[in-house]
Amino acid sequence: MPHTATETPLKRDNARYDLAALRSEFPVLRREVHGKPLIYLDNAATSQTPQSVIDVFSDYYSRYNANIHRGLHTLADEATAAFEGTRQRVKGFLNAEDARQIIFTRGTTEAINLVAQSWGRTQLNPGDEVLISMLEHHSNIVPWQLLAAERGFTIKVIPVDERGALDMVAYRSLLSERTKLVAVNHVSNALGTINPVKEMATLAHQYGALILIDGAQAAPHQRVDVQDIDADFYAFSGHKVYGPTGVGVLYGKKALLDAMPPWQGGGEMIDTVSFDAGTTYADIPHKFEAGTPAIAEVIALGRALEWMEGVGVEAISAWEGVLLDHATQAVNQVDGLHILGTAPHKAGVLSFVVDGAHAQDIGLLIDQLGVAIRTGHHCAQPLLHHFGVEATCRASFAAYNTLDEVDTFVTALNRVIGMVR
Ligand SMILES: *Cc1c(COP(=O)(O)O)cnc(C)c1O
Repeated sequence: MPHTATETPLKRDNARYDLAALRSEFPVLRREVHGKPLIYLDNAATSQTPQSVIDVFSDYYSRYNANIHRGLHTLADEATAAFEGTRQRVKGFLNAEDARQIIFTRGTTEAINLVAQSWGRTQLNPGDEVLISMLEHHSNIVPWQLLAAERGFTIKVIPVDERGALDMVAYRSLLSERTKLVAVNHVSNALGTINPVKEMATLAHQYGALILIDGAQAAPHQRVDVQDIDADFYAFSGHKVYGPTGVGVLYGKKALLDAMPPWQGGGEMIDTVSFDAGTTYADIPHKFEAGTPAIAEVIALGRALEWMEGVGVEAISAWEGVLLDHATQAVNQVDGLHILGTAPHKAGVLSFVVDGAHAQDIGLLIDQLGVAIRTGHHCAQPLLHHFGVEATCRASFAAYNTLDEVDTFVTALNRVIGMVR
């Protein structure tokens, strides 16, 4: 059954969600690939960017490009105000207690490395345990492995069941007085599983452990409330929330951030520097923001979050749920196709393998039809090996995708499978 952009089921339920108008804000959605209209279904790798966010860059560089915090001139004041405005917006976006708890990083990866190198390096000792999960992205595995090799603590892995949901019984039994940190993603980028992070935080805290949540896939798709979750640390990336690359966020509880030593040294992060009397450090957040940050990117991130809130985070979640349900039903009709990740709570990610067809071949051929999906290990090799595969195809959805696009994708998929089998 064909769908048009203006006749979506959600449109009837939610008059605010005007898909055609929303799509028109994204210039890239007007382009063609190999002579076909682009259908962009690789949103879990990076999301596309609305014009209002793109405009920040030309506006910043043509009107108020200046280094922040130090200047006394007008341009520096304007840049500082816009930069700090994003910090306020992120505070609201995450429902943080205080804007000083928002640290700007290069992305989720750097945020996790910051916690590992600052908190972890001073707190983790031989005999201690860090729990991660089978669902983790490499960026929430490798920083802990690097540090464990140095500090001698142990990493334990929370297993998943056959649907790709975390085994909560196993989680409870892995927790002990030795557990110092639980580091898990909120939503799995490879399977779309939504993890019960609030319940996991409560359990971790019963053992005196902290919880770090990798929110790279949650922040784009659902309302996040760090106080309700009781997260000790929460990280996400700009380029997955309709913002630019090169910027991300670390939220931390104030007492933890206050007590943590700086990670990188340089300008911006000091109070006084002296060769004789030693150096004293600035308070949070500046203590963790050494050097000139990605100023335009931070300002653009603020604009992206403003865009999301303008559309409505709940409305985006609801629409992506409609897309996921429709796509799941449609691909389940494809002969020999198996979905990986069928957890009861899922975000808009559809990972699958097809009997007799390599993921790589499907990805390359479907690109010829204008459809962008991801193929490979999705930076989650341990998880894929657990399911006995090296690669999957992954279609992932965002606010601007349509039911028509999903139908075109499934038609293209059937054609491609016919070609390679
Ligand atoms: C994308 C992603 C990351 C890494 O984010 P970067 O922007 O590359 O730092 C980490 N975890 C998950 C779940 C992701 O999807």
